[in-house]
Amino acid sequence: MTPLHDVRAMVLARCAVATPVQVARADAADCIVAQDVVATEQVPPFANTAVDGYAVRSVDVGRVPVELRVIGELAAGAAPTIAVTAGTAIRIMTGAPIPDGCDCVVMVEDTERIGTDSVNILKSVPAGAAIRAAGSDVAVGATVVTAGMRVTPMIEGVLASINATHVVVYPRVKVGVISTGDELVDDGSPLAAGQIRESNRTMLVRIVEEAGATAIDLGIVRDNEDELEAALRSAVSTGGCDALVTSGGVSMGDYDIVKAVLSRIADMNWVQVAMKPAKPFAFGTLQNPSGVQIPIFGLPGNPVSSLVSFELLARPALRTMMGFGAASHRPEVLAITDDAVKRHPDGKVHFDRVHASWGSDGRVHVSRKSEQGSHQLATTAVANALMMVPDGNGLSAGDDVMVTFLGADAGPTAAK
Ligand code: AMP
Ligand code: MG
Repeated sequence: MTPLHDVRAMVLARCAVATPVQVARADAADCIVAQDVVATEQVPPFANTAVDGYAVRSVDVGRVPVELRVIGELAAGAAPTIAVTAGTAIRIMTGAPIPDGCDCVVMVEDTERIGTDSVNILKSVPAGAAIRAAGSDVAVGATVVTAGMRVTPMIEGVLASINATHVVVYPRVKVGVISTGDELVDDGSPLAAGQIRESNRTMLVRIVEEAGATAIDLGIVRDNEDELEAALRSAVSTGGCDALVTSGGVSMGDYDIVKAVLSRIADMNWVQVAMKPAKPFAFGTLQNPSGVQIPIFGLPGNPVSSLVSFELLARPALRTMMGFGAASHRPEVLAITDDAVKRHPDGKVHFDRVHASWGSDGRVHVSRKSEQGSHQLATTAVANALMMVPDGNGLSAGDDVMVTFLGADAGPTAAK
């Protein structure tokens, strides 16, 4: 058996970062930026008011109350046509440009309108008050987004604010997902003897998307070598897949045809990972017609093993290809187990499925259900973390443990 850490290093070493591409801003959502973005426009483009109020000269409002003559009005989107002069004010709305002569804005709450022509200023404000200077958010020439940052909704907003219509990012990898097995049914038909419902592909397609990649559902392939070889070859040629994920057929059974086919057509590593679940794992590359080596992740068939294998080995690799760097990996967090864990030394790290929540002590606590079988996806689905139980004789309640969160909003739930 090989330690998980070494298997992961072997996989990552064979997964190259994709070549950056320029895409329209809207298509860059959640991708990693590959080239710094330098602003060619400033934000805000002109000095404007942060409040609704009156544009005045600070010298005129040094002593209050003071009555000023209202000589005009400026809404957001309007260009000023007249200047503020001694003893006058211009009614101004949030976002409107600061007119000439004005050096501060008094908010409307600190004023009292007198008829249509005058306003009583009740509060003295200094020069610069409530004025947002041109370029005070982004200056021309500023690097607003640096390579390595993820295009979050906020980053998209920033790019829009400087009129950056395109951005250079690492492309989402296209990941073909195949499940294998003669026993699998996914068309809703009644189960014949020996058949089960397919579930891995349904889950993996979503998890691939959750990891930031594009999933291509390649269906079920029967336990037939020719069929599988054809499916894999077409996935990396006409299918345009940048990576492949298969489930099932990688262990020691007589019908583990994924093993048979990949051994023949791809450059594979067959590994027994020193962990439970998900001990059998296959990784390798299959050359596409352009000569590119396409990574293949052969996950075990048991649904929980498929999930754990994907999370710990395939996900970091796919994200590395998409430029995620250190963020390719889910963080490991120190937590406290509220339940004792019985186990025996077997040379493996156990990744138990647990529910993690914040405790009133400000620490992350995990509780563990007893159902930990690699076929028990339903119990896993209500868990939100994997707890690392080191090789040995188990844990006592209250022990420190390392956990890795699962899911899109990876993290502990609120205190119970
Ligand atoms: P295998 O690795 O192909 O020997 O499969 C191990 C176990 O996982 C068997 O009980 C399979 O029936 C089950 N299994 C394999 N693929 C799937 C799948 N796509 N959905 C649900 N169960 C599966
Ligand atoms: Mg099988």
